[in-house]
Amino acid sequence: MAWDVLDPEQRELRDLVRTLARERIGPRAAEIDESHEFPWDVVEVYRENDIFGLFYTEELGGLGTGALLSLVAIEEVAKVCATSALILAVQELGSLGLKLAGSEEQQQRWLPRLASGEWLAAYALTESGSGSDSAAMRTTARREGDEYVLDGSKRFITNAGVANLYTVFAKTEPDAGHAGISAFVVEADAPGFAVARLEPKMGISGSTTGELTFDGCRVPAANRLGDEGEGFRIAMRILDRSRPGVAAQALGIAQGATDYALEYAKTRETMGRPIVQHQLIQAKLADMETECEAARGLLYRFGQMLDAGVDGPELTKASAMAKLKCGDVAMAVTTEAVQILGGYGYIREYPVERFMRDAKITQIYEGTQEVQRLVIAREMARESRAFLLAGA
Ligand SMILES: Cc1cc2nc3c(=O)[nH]c(=O)nc-3n(C[C@H](O)[C@H](O)[C@H](O)COP(=O)(O)OP(=O)(O)OC[C@H]3O[C@@H](n4cnc5c(N)ncnc54)[C@H](O)[C@@H]3O)c2cc1C
Repeated sequence: MAWDVLDPEQRELRDLVRTLARERIGPRAAEIDESHEFPWDVVEVYRENDIFGLFYTEELGGLGTGALLSLVAIEEVAKVCATSALILAVQELGSLGLKLAGSEEQQQRWLPRLASGEWLAAYALTESGSGSDSAAMRTTARREGDEYVLDGSKRFITNAGVANLYTVFAKTEPDAGHAGISAFVVEADAPGFAVARLEPKMGISGSTTGELTFDGCRVPAANRLGDEGEGFRIAMRILDRSRPGVAAQALGIAQGATDYALEYAKTRETMGRPIVQHQLIQAKLADMETECEAARGLLYRFGQMLDAGVDGPELTKASAMAKLKCGDVAMAVTTEAVQILGGYGYIREYPVERFMRDAKITQIYEGTQEVQRLVIAREMARESRAFLLAGA
């Protein structure tokens, strides 16, 4: 048997996800991409097989199998369909506010419904004028008795219109910079809440990306996560834990493209032999496989760190490095996969052009690659390696 970082129970669950991906999701992937329709049938596959449960503890109705396996599950699905993998990653992204900052009562109220997949979640931080600079947000939340009144809008929100619950960030003290931001759970039927429009886009076409509007939107004060002013810290702690979900999506796309290109190269012949026997193609395949494995090392290390209870700057850096490496590998590897297929790589009949379009977003959302580099360098600047200078 091949060497495996997973234990036998984890392997069994990984194999279940792999089988579902190959048999139930993969055959739908091209159609999902073409139709631009949210794949509710895939959500149903997840519900039937308790796949959302991989992301939650047993007390909250989940399987309690840990972070590493949840990343592996996203990777397995992304090997065949990036849109379907994103459904899992965003369920986690939208749940993390409750997991990290929710009271016992808030967690029990919402998380079991997310763990079963009865409800879908979303995370709403970005606005039209504030993406990388999220603290510049303009959406406000004003306290009125037992309620908050939200006004403003959010842009580019994944699961817009399909989520039942949104983790929303808004300014309770507009002049206080990031110290004035608070976090709220907004249910989809909250008065004054609407999905204004959905964006057509380059890839992950089955996933909805939309604009949310809050027009005097009333939310019970009991829906606030943590204290007033804690929202920015919560948002960043969420991203530390969710970015590796994007990394897992990216790695799955890269590995799926590599696997497809390899099999293609074995059957396509030029100059009297399969192209896999041409050394320039061999070099591409070798680099693609090595890059995937290097990216996987960073990603799984993050999963193991989280399962071991690591927190703080070390986790932040590991998360950013996994996202940076996996996203860049996805873009580079899928581009090479298209090259290996030649003209066939460029047409819709073959999946690698979809992989290449899907890969691009992993370099952009949940913090662009530039932002990941800023995070890594910031954490490095706090570390001391002075012994090198002392010995010089
Ligand atoms: C399909 C899709 C789904 C998304 N889903 C969600 C979601 O569910 N929830 C959510 O809240 N957001 C979501 N987003 C938003 C996404 O996270 C932002 O688009 C992203 O963080 C970048 O912000 P921006 O688009 O405003 O770009 P900008 O911040 O305007 O950046 C533009 C460019 O400048 C670079 N840049 C910015 N600041 C710096 C700097 N200080 N140093 C160097 N370079 C810099 C960026 O890296 C980028 O290349 C989604 C976006 C897309 C496209």
